[in-house]
Amino acid sequence: MTLEGNFYESGNSYRRLAILNLDGIFFDLLVDDESIQSGVLSNLSFSDRIANIPRKIIFIDGSVFETQDNNKVDKIAFNSDKKNSFSMRLQIIESKWKWVLTSILFLALLGYLIIRVVLPWAGKELALIVPNKVNETISSGGLRLLDQEWFKPSELSDDKKNKISDSFSELVNTLPKSEFEYKLYFRKMGQANAFALPAGQIILTDELVRVAENPEQIRAIILHEIGHVHHRHSMQQIIRSSLISVAISMLTSDLSTLEDLVVVLPVFVLKSGFSQGDEIQADEYMFRHMFKLQMDPIHFVNILKIMTQNNLNIDDNILKYFSSHPSTKDRVKEAIRKSDKFLSES
Ligand SMILES: [Zn+2]
Repeated sequence: MTLEGNFYESGNSYRRLAILNLDGIFFDLLVDDESIQSGVLSNLSFSDRIANIPRKIIFIDGSVFETQDNNKVDKIAFNSDKKNSFSMRLQIIESKWKWVLTSILFLALLGYLIIRVVLPWAGKELALIVPNKVNETISSGGLRLLDQEWFKPSELSDDKKNKISDSFSELVNTLPKSEFEYKLYFRKMGQANAFALPAGQIILTDELVRVAENPEQIRAIILHEIGHVHHRHSMQQIIRSSLISVAISMLTSDLSTLEDLVVVLPVFVLKSGFSQGDEIQADEYMFRHMFKLQMDPIHFVNILKIMTQNNLNIDDNILKYFSSHPSTKDRVKEAIRKSDKFLSES
């Protein structure tokens, strides 16, 4: 398509006769048979049609081609507009997708960092400054819920319970003074197990007491559980889960999530969600005190084995003490190593 008209250089009113050649994609502007502007059609802009006023086609550098041929300009402008809007839409979609993908990646990375780095760190720091009153409130509420949902009253004889309680008090008295008040509870639940609540309540199941071969094995388990309390492992986990709940309830403005926090403890206690690091730390606490009390760490190995065996036969959905405790084999190995050391030193 060819248009005839006048050409004005940018900022100059000097008029020259010119011919604008267009082929649908490119344009070529000729003045005195010499090409002085060429390029892609989409770089041109067109003035609006107002009656028969000459139309202006404006080049990127601001120079102008003016023509009376309004009909042709309309056609060109229409085609150019279509192409422009299509490529613009493509561009918008493309940039939006890039944005969406970048956001998803960013959120995934942020989520990973929060869960793997920020929450464990915050859990540790906050667990250290949680006032004991909070520990106690959460623990007593948690024990109440555990009693309602999972535990049954102990069926051990008073004589048995008294003996273990005496041994427990004796054991606790040998420990360094602590801000926690350790208390022993007996409950029945259908499997050999032991739990610790953040304020220092240690719960032994009837089944654990029954399978233990001697008081040392029970004391080893108690020391391990006290290790969890001492290092505030449950509180750390509760804070981590709570922070996630708080974050979710803030994001979804659903405050009812906050009310579920009390439920976190019992579920956590039963699912025994300690990390391998927490277990090793609790074991170390136990070994340290076993050495002080002249107790052979082999007792821990033996009770671990009995409990694992005992709980393997239980077809129960509640997670088992040791299948959920990571890497029992490694812990047994370490306990045997500690026992060898104990025997060689004594
Ligand atoms: Zn443990």
